[in-house]
Amino acid sequence: MKIRLDQERCTGHGRCYTLAPEVFDEDERGHCVVTLADVPDTLREKARRGVEGCPEYALEAIENAESEA
Ligand code: SF4
Repeated sequence: MKIRLDQERCTGHGRCYTLAPEVFDEDERGHCVVTLADVPDTLREKARRGVEGCPEYALEAIENAESEA
């Protein structure tokens, strides 16, 4: 699974990296940075929680991302 971040939408609420710090981090403005290019299966549920917790819909979880390249 991969995570797509729309930086235009991100306003820095910090929900994502609070919910799933293994997958998301913050930059110097408190905006989201996705730290894992590929989310391993062990972190999938947590990553989804972070994606779904974003109030700005700035995050999208993409399954089978390897077929997109
Ligand atoms: S929860 Fe959404 S708006 Fe907040 S920092 Fe994360 S991506 Fe940005």
